[in-house]
Amino acid sequence: KLFNQVEEAKGNIRVFCRCRPLSKAEVLAGCSMVVDFDAVKDGELGILNGGSMKKTFKFDRIYTPKDDQADVFANASPMVTSVLDGYNVCIFAYGQTGTGKTFTMEGTVEKRGVNYRTLEELFKVAKERSETFIYNISVSVLEVYNEQIRDLLATSSTPKKLEIKQASEGFHHIPGIVEAEVENIKEVWDVLQAGSSARAVGSNNVNEHSSRSHCMLCVMVKAKNLINGECTKSKLWLVDLAGSERLAKADVQGDRLKEAQNINRSLSALGDVISALANKSGHIPYRNSKLTHLLQDSLGGDSKTLMFVQISPSEKDLSETLSSLNFATRVR
Ligand code: ADP
Ligand code: MG
Repeated sequence: KLFNQVEEAKGNIRVFCRCRPLSKAEVLAGCSMVVDFDAVKDGELGILNGGSMKKTFKFDRIYTPKDDQADVFANASPMVTSVLDGYNVCIFAYGQTGTGKTFTMEGTVEKRGVNYRTLEELFKVAKERSETFIYNISVSVLEVYNEQIRDLLATSSTPKKLEIKQASEGFHHIPGIVEAEVENIKEVWDVLQAGSSARAVGSNNVNEHSSRSHCMLCVMVKAKNLINGECTKSKLWLVDLAGSERLAKADVQGDRLKEAQNINRSLSALGDVISALANKSGHIPYRNSKLTHLLQDSLGGDSKTLMFVQISPSEKDLSETLSSLNFATRVR
């Protein structure tokens, strides 16, 4: 209880930092590490910024390469289950390509990530509450690429151009997008698989494409309280953001330039929205990107936001690491 009060007092935005291990290739190449994990026990992350210079960053949680998927989910789990209590929630992974955003959110079959574990937990808690509540859970899977929304579960009747609309009660939605009703984790898995294969269609390099688009899973929960008849509707977003790295000038031409500008703009918009919320600013600029406009219901108000800032331990990534850590510090 006390723990909860302390947690509540911190507001509705949490930032967790996760550092991946050095890859085999980095170890073979003799890459040195710039992350100092000794300070982690004091809630700080130390970055060795050349010589003896050390910069420290504070986060709500810090995960070292030793922490596994279950450790990470354990701290996110109270937040995700609050969607069953009627809260809107948003969890996203931010960072340079190759730092583990997809590993954290999607994971692998052997090492399931936040997305799968979240749905599994929702079904479990929903079942425990089945004497008091009836829950109806559905999911949409989409990607935002170059400021265009693409429904990854699209059928032949899905509109070509998807737009965000605001319903009379204030809820944002995308008319025509597929909302797949799911009753168990097996169905969720099938939906996620369908989403991934749709993502691959039309791109000649799947990995490259996925690092240039925001991959978004929306979980919609309708709850009916069987005792007082009250109905609530809430939404949980799970987002694997496009890579935050700045491209080398030489690479930035034509289509790549447009992509890079769109990524840049939407990630800055996200930073602006979250820092405006953290600073209790009067105007929250949700409309500056499709990403923030989509997430609007789950960012701010009494909704709960969790950001994973993903980093590499390797010296070669130092400048991107510092830039991600600074982004994360700005939104705290
Ligand atoms: P991103 O989505 O940010 O581009 P990925 O999730 O694809 O990055 O991760 C890059 C590589 O690093 C993958 O091979 C992934 O399995 C591995 N990796 C990332 N984080 C971890 C981790 N915490 N533990 C083990 N391997 C990791
Ligand atoms: Mg990825």
